[in-house]
Amino acid sequence: MVRKVALSACLAGKNCRYDGRLKENKELVKKLEDAGYEIVLFCPEESCFGTPREAMDLVLTDEGIKALGRVFHEDKSMPIVEYAERFFEENPDIDLFVGKARSPSCGVRTALLYDEDRNLISDKESGIMAAEARVRGIESVDDEDLI
Ligand code: SF4
Repeated sequence: MVRKVALSACLAGKNCRYDGRLKENKELVKKLEDAGYEIVLFCPEESCFGTPREAMDLVLTDEGIKALGRVFHEDKSMPIVEYAERFFEENPDIDLFVGKARSPSCGVRTALLYDEDRNLISDKESGIMAAEARVRGIESVDDEDLI
C-alpha cells in the first residue's frame, strides 16, 4: 500500500509564503519520492488569507496559544484550525506529516512562541496545523529533521 506524506507546500516549490519568497527544498521532495511516498501538499495560511499576507506569530495569551497577526494583532487561529481539521478529515490516511520548521502554522517542534509583548519564550512549540496532526497521532517531523 502506498504511504502518504502531508508536506508543507512551500517546501515543494509553491510560492505560498507570507512574503511570496520561495522556500523550495528539492532534496527533501526527492527523498520522500525515493522512499515511495505519495505527497499531499497543504498550506493553511495561503488558503485562509492569500499570498502575500500579514506575517503572524504564535503568542501565549490568557486564552492559550494563538496565532496573531504581526501588524494588526488580530487572532487568525480559528481559520487555520478549521483548515487543518478539514484537511485531515479529507485525507484520513496520512502516514507522515512534514512541516516547515519554525512556521507558526506548520513547525512541528520548532515553532517560536512569544509573550504578549513579543518576547521570545520558547522555540520548541508546534504550529497550529502541526498541533492538529500531533493530536491525531500522526507521526510528525520538521523538514530539518529529514535533511
Ligand atoms: S510554512 Fe506552512 S503556512 Fe507557511 S507557507 Fe509553508 S505551507 Fe504555508
